[in-house]
Amino acid sequence: MTTHRITLIPGDGIGPEITTAMQSVLEAAGVDISWEKAEAGAHLMERLGTPLPEATIDSIRANKVAIKGPVTTPVGSGFRSVNVQLRKELDLFVNLRPAFSLPGTGARYEDIDLVIVRENTEDLYAGIEFEEGSLEAAGLIAYCEESGAGRIRPDSGISLKPISVTGSRRIVSWACEYALANGRTKVTAVHKANILKYSDGLFLRVAREVGEGYAGRLQFEDRIVDACCMGLVMRPEEFDVLVLPNLYGDIISDLCAGMVGGLGIAPGANIGEEYAVFEPVHGSAPKYAGKNVANPTAELLSAVLMLRHLGEAEAADRILTAIRQVLNEGTAVTYDIRRANTGSTDGSVGTTEYSNAVIAHL
Ligand code: NAD
Repeated sequence: MTTHRITLIPGDGIGPEITTAMQSVLEAAGVDISWEKAEAGAHLMERLGTPLPEATIDSIRANKVAIKGPVTTPVGSGFRSVNVQLRKELDLFVNLRPAFSLPGTGARYEDIDLVIVRENTEDLYAGIEFEEGSLEAAGLIAYCEESGAGRIRPDSGISLKPISVTGSRRIVSWACEYALANGRTKVTAVHKANILKYSDGLFLRVAREVGEGYAGRLQFEDRIVDACCMGLVMRPEEFDVLVLPNLYGDIISDLCAGMVGGLGIAPGANIGEEYAVFEPVHGSAPKYAGKNVANPTAELLSAVLMLRHLGEAEAADRILTAIRQVLNEGTAVTYDIRRANTGSTDGSVGTTEYSNAVIAHL
């Protein structure tokens, strides 16, 4: 049996509880993993002067695969998101977020089976921003006016939206290859090219070029992001794989997570040429930290994606089946699933009790 050496980043908030639950399920499923724990999060600032220590990046570089819990990003504090930093540092240009129906979740939709492929390194998340009142912002505002590009109010903050040919080509190509490898039939590129001609317009042009290369093997179409939101809610069966620039991908993946029962069950993966970091879509849910109430399913399903990446498909299938059974029975589910089904959290179980129920069904 192969021993997989995996970097484990518990994160903060509910992260430590849900990653512990995930580890216990993988161990019970008999997957041979040697975990290397690594730290990330705002709580490290005082001790290490950074929320993302070099040792954590080094560990992922060495092991190639990591799984993490969520990490809190203090709002508007000038503190850059650990997740954004990690994605940039390791060039994890794909954010893969499948959204599929599970039984017993109380979701508004059934039979959803969508895959969101979000570009992870560019767009408004590139982290190139100019603070209101700064010299740099004033310089940029002056340049725009002098060059005739347009007027920006002097009391503006500015965030740049770079979208490159290189970045667009590799994400759309990845989405098409993923679709083919996973028996999918259609790829939809999502954009706002009618308004944002030089960023989304470029994305659309490149996406169409890439799509043409798959003619006869995949259906390729594009949608404007606002119409796409409406289409997803009204006729989700028209979609299969969606490929999107960073911001739309972030928003639409939460929309799709909501369609299948919420953040507690939405998995994700950040993938690059060399490294892969698996993590749930949801955040650190600080109000539930340390209370043994958070739903570990999204973390578990992220581990299922990781196991498939590691070639452990049998264990992945067994864990997924056990999760389906526990949710379907509905007796040992966390507060969010209980509330979606009954309107009340009465009778829900904790994080540990739920993961023990999954283990009992393996
Ligand atoms: P959140 O996902 O933490 O919470 C949104 C809602 O969903 C809350 O009501 C929360 O209690 C609930 N929820 C989330 N996960 C749950 C789970 N596993 N089980 C049950 N309920 C769950 O989003 P937020 O409140 O916007 O963000 C909190 C913090 O997390 C912020 O600092 C944000 O930056 C960070 N964040 C981190 C990541 C990441 O590490 N990848 C992703 C998103 C947000």
